[in-house]
Amino acid sequence: MSGFFGIVSERPCITDLFYGTDYHSHLGTKRAGMATFDNGQAHQNIHNIQNSHFRPKFSKDLDEMKGDVGIGVISDTEAQPVMVNSHLGRWAITTVSKINNIEELEQDCLNRHQQFTDLSRGKTNPTELVALLISQGCDFVDGIENVYRRVKGSCNMLILTPDGIIAARDRYGRTPIVIGKRGNDFAVASESHSYVNMGFETHYFVGPGEIVKLTHSGMEVLRPAEKQLQICSFLWIYYGYPCTEYEGINAEEVRYNLGRIMGERDDVQADFVSPIPDSGIGMALGYSNGRQIPYKRGLLKYTPTWSRSFMPVNQADRFLVARMKLIPSRAVLEGKEVVFCDDSIVRGTQLRDNVKMLYDYGAKKVHVRISCPPLVHGCTFLNFSESKTDRELITRRVIEELEGGTIRNLEAYHDATTPEYARMVEVIRQHVGVDTLKFNTVEDVCNAIGLPKEKICTHCFDASSYGD
Ligand code: SF4
Repeated sequence: MSGFFGIVSERPCITDLFYGTDYHSHLGTKRAGMATFDNGQAHQNIHNIQNSHFRPKFSKDLDEMKGDVGIGVISDTEAQPVMVNSHLGRWAITTVSKINNIEELEQDCLNRHQQFTDLSRGKTNPTELVALLISQGCDFVDGIENVYRRVKGSCNMLILTPDGIIAARDRYGRTPIVIGKRGNDFAVASESHSYVNMGFETHYFVGPGEIVKLTHSGMEVLRPAEKQLQICSFLWIYYGYPCTEYEGINAEEVRYNLGRIMGERDDVQADFVSPIPDSGIGMALGYSNGRQIPYKRGLLKYTPTWSRSFMPVNQADRFLVARMKLIPSRAVLEGKEVVFCDDSIVRGTQLRDNVKMLYDYGAKKVHVRISCPPLVHGCTFLNFSESKTDRELITRRVIEELEGGTIRNLEAYHDATTPEYARMVEVIRQHVGVDTLKFNTVEDVCNAIGLPKEKICTHCFDASSYGD
């Protein structure tokens, strides 16, 4: 995915912009950038962060970047922010987007005699494409509505102008935008935890399709929010930083609730519950309380060098990293029956390797509990560093096997009460190699979040989402 941060300040903004953007490092691993305006003079820096984190890459830019308004981004995809000079003036734009109809839109721009200047890995830069769609409008709101109408997928954006920032949330609110306030200063971010240590308070959650302008004079709503919301449930389950809030709902609380719900219902006998770190920690704490068994750490992450977000591009290297950063504890595991909690199963290979380590290090029985339902569908709305396409999912391979070599009857596999679902979970259990395996249901996810199901995207579990 990607995450962005922007600031409109009464004083030079670069230090706040630097740290605020850095707090989005868990959302992207490939490229990062910052742009500022200083009395109409634009400054911009973009770096590759695949081999180094954001702060060391950008610290040398701090002296040269000036201004009291700025935007920054950490991205899994294209180079941004993109600087634009159009009939709307001089501006910069950064997006969190996935554009499924990019070729069609690119051709349309070319047919209108518009041109692309910035290539991203040999392809059209999606943020530049969004900038061209905005430039087709008679003003920013008209241009952003053009994006809402025409982009298939999702698109959040920050537009930096010499006097402020325009924040526009995806028309279905698939990803979040939150406004922060500190005295007369405004910030805007993907993740609300980025405000905490800089003295900002969460001020306003931008709604789906809403457009807001932040200047030194205050905050103005340029376009009201739509009613339909389809925020990604996976933000709470995994992607978001634990202490962040979406729609005013804290991610760690949701993860705890998912564990508690599972623990209260479970009947397995075990000596203790342990997380697969870090993604299973919140769930394991909730499970411990729900099931009334101790919380212990049977598997530890070597945090001094392996950050949560570090993710090599190469698949083989990812497996190696996944293995090297986790260390089982024989003293805790030896002779014990253990429940392990994790957020999700994508391919199943990583979990299988982790589980083997647990048995090798003395665990007598291993029970795995997953905070979300089985992933039956890839995500078509957001960009992820790890592929989560249909083809990659263990469920698809298992369903194909159970259905005699074709993918069909998917609805039966969405429903935790069907025999098909039970058979699928049993085959996954055998593949992963654990004593028992259970998943939460879509209803559990909605209950843990506390929003009505129709406001949450659960497409990857049950294919039920509107929008394109
Ligand atoms: S399909 Fe899944 S990952 Fe994608 S937006 Fe919906 S809930 Fe999130």
